Amino acid sequence: MIEVRNLKKAFGSNVVLRDISADIQHQEVLVVIGPSGSGKSTFLRCLNLLEQPNGGSIKIEGKDIMDPTNKINEIRMELGMVFQRFHLFPHMKVIDNIMLAPIQVRKWSEEKARKKALELLAKVGLSDKADAFPDSLSGGQAQRVAIARALAMEPKIMLFDEPTSALDPEMVGEVLAVMKQLAKEGMTMVVVTHEMGFAREVGDRVMFMEQGVIVEEGKPTQIFENPQQERTKSFLSKVL
Ligand code: ATP
Ligand code: MG
Repeated sequence: MIEVRNLKKAFGSNVVLRDISADIQHQEVLVVIGPSGSGKSTFLRCLNLLEQPNGGSIKIEGKDIMDPTNKINEIRMELGMVFQRFHLFPHMKVIDNIMLAPIQVRKWSEEKARKKALELLAKVGLSDKADAFPDSLSGGQAQRVAIARALAMEPKIMLFDEPTSALDPEMVGEVLAVMKQLAKEGMTMVVVTHEMGFAREVGDRVMFMEQGVIVEEGKPTQIFENPQQERTKSFLSKVL
C-alpha cells in the first residue's frame, strides 16, 4: 500500500532521513518510535509531502507521489493526518471544522458532509459537541474532533504524529481508545508515539528510528521483549 525506498531528506547540511525504506501493508498499524530529533515527524511529513524529499521514492497504492505529473491534492486526500496540536479552526463550530474539507475539497453537498460529520462525532463519542467551539473543549475532546475531521475526507491511510503528547495524562486514554477502534476496523495507520502500551497492544509492527535510519523493526513482542540492536535496547531501557 505504501512503499518507501531509499528516502532521503536534509534541511541544509542537517541530514535528517538518511536512507529509509519501509513497506506499510493494507490495514497494517505501523508504530514508529525513537528519540527526539531522530526524524520521525519528518518521515511522516514526507509521506504526504508536507516536506519535499531530497531523494528516493514513495509509492502509495502504486502511484509515485514524487512524480510531478501526479496531483499533490489528490494524493493528500488519501492520507489523513493528526498532529500533536489539534489545529482546529477556532472561529468555527466543531461540526463546521469537520465539514469544511469534504465540502471544499471533495465537493460534497452540505447535507452529505453534515451527515458524515455527525456520524463521525458519534464515533469519537462527541455527538453533544457538534455546535461547540474548539475553545470550550478539553484537549482530549479537541484531539478526538481532529481525528473526526481527518476521517471526514475518507482517507485510505491515517498518519498520527504524537497525538497524545500534548494532553494531560487523564485524557490520553480516550484518544488512544478511538485510535484502537480505528485499527480494529481495519484502517491503515502510521503512528508516531511514546505510548509503548499502545504500540504493544495495537501495533502490528514497530519501527525504531535513530539519527535518520531504521535501526530495527519487527513485531511488538520482538522489539520490546527481544531487541537485537544495542541502540534499541538502550532506547527502550529509558522509555519502558
Ligand atoms: P521529536 O520526537 O522531538 O518530535 P522527531 O523524531 O520527530 O523528534 P523531526 O522533527 O523529524 O524529529 O526532526 C529531525 C531533525 O530535523 C531535527 O534535527 C530538526 O531540527 C530538523 N528539522 C525538522 N523540521 C525542520 C525544518 N522544517 N527546518 C529545519 N530543520 C528541521
Ligand atoms: Mg516529532
